[in-house]
Amino acid sequence: MTARDPIADLRRIAFLLERANEATYRVRAFRSAAKALGALPAGEVAERARTGKLTELSGVGDVTARCVAESLAGEEPVYLRRLVATEGTDLDEAAAKLRDALRGDCHTHSDWSDGGSPIEEMALAAVELGHEYVVLTDHSPRLTVARGLTADRLRKQLDHVAAVNEALPKGFRILTGIEVDILADGSLDQDEELLARLDVVVGSVHSGLNDDRAKMTRRMLAAIANPHLDILGHCTGRMVSSRPAGVTGPGDRGHRARTRKESDFDADAVFAACAEHDVAVEINSRPERQDPPKRLIRRALEAGCKFAVNTDAHAPGQLDWQRFGCERAALCGVPANRVVNTWKADRLVKWTAGRG
Ligand SMILES: [Zn+2]
Ligand SMILES: [Zn+2]
Repeated sequence: MTARDPIADLRRIAFLLERANEATYRVRAFRSAAKALGALPAGEVAERARTGKLTELSGVGDVTARCVAESLAGEEPVYLRRLVATEGTDLDEAAAKLRDALRGDCHTHSDWSDGGSPIEEMALAAVELGHEYVVLTDHSPRLTVARGLTADRLRKQLDHVAAVNEALPKGFRILTGIEVDILADGSLDQDEELLARLDVVVGSVHSGLNDDRAKMTRRMLAAIANPHLDILGHCTGRMVSSRPAGVTGPGDRGHRARTRKESDFDADAVFAACAEHDVAVEINSRPERQDPPKRLIRRALEAGCKFAVNTDAHAPGQLDWQRFGCERAALCGVPANRVVNTWKADRLVKWTAGRG
């Protein structure tokens, strides 16, 4: 075992975060931890790590303590490894490469719910972007502000999509789907029989976003364990800015949404469950969402999760927003083979069918 210097590792992480222009508070966490450890007498860092007392020091949190423990064990800390893996790569190039690898989009809306355009328009725009498929995921019944589809309307939509598909260029298809509400008890807001019939089921929390941590975690875990759920949509529910002009959506209630903080849940438990149940974590590309934040993308990556880089487009032009999600994915080192919408439609549908 080669001993590593945990303080040097923390400082290296801080340096790489600064260079990547990460938020100041994240950098400070590593700089403060390095300083706190540097002030200790020789041997105390190892002793505290052994007895689990690192976090009792002011300036040392769970993440930095984990880095120190890994470092003392002679391993390159996972956090550092991720940063080093993306170091020196041309991020613009990596993002563009991931965007090129995408064959479709798994989260889009039409004017059947709160989108602004007919299904046909969305599909034609997706064809022009070079997609091989687009999944139509209009809202579920309880989201009345977004004109969520009742079971009957969804059945009608499935017939309509079948007819539209007949008229579309060969090699392209609309896949059926839904953005189903994850209800307060974690159940999904649509008939089982319909969820089973759909090609792709995206599940999102749109209500009770301020549920306490334990409740929100239970709610999300129940949804993830549901075999119909394929993709966990915009998992924190945060809004980092107002919606772009002309876009309405759930939670809007007739006016422009303001910023909204992240929902509180046990991210490690949620991502471990996603990995276990083979549910993909959405990287939502909408500029006002940017959800999940990068630190959570990194944790989902470590947990072994699959991803879907989606636009959540409510209008044809928004289908081109995938590049925003790709930029964030590239910054976190998400490899293309972990992103389900780099797959061909047949493989995607085989995956979702095998799960549900
Ligand atoms: Zn949503
Ligand atoms: Zn949506």
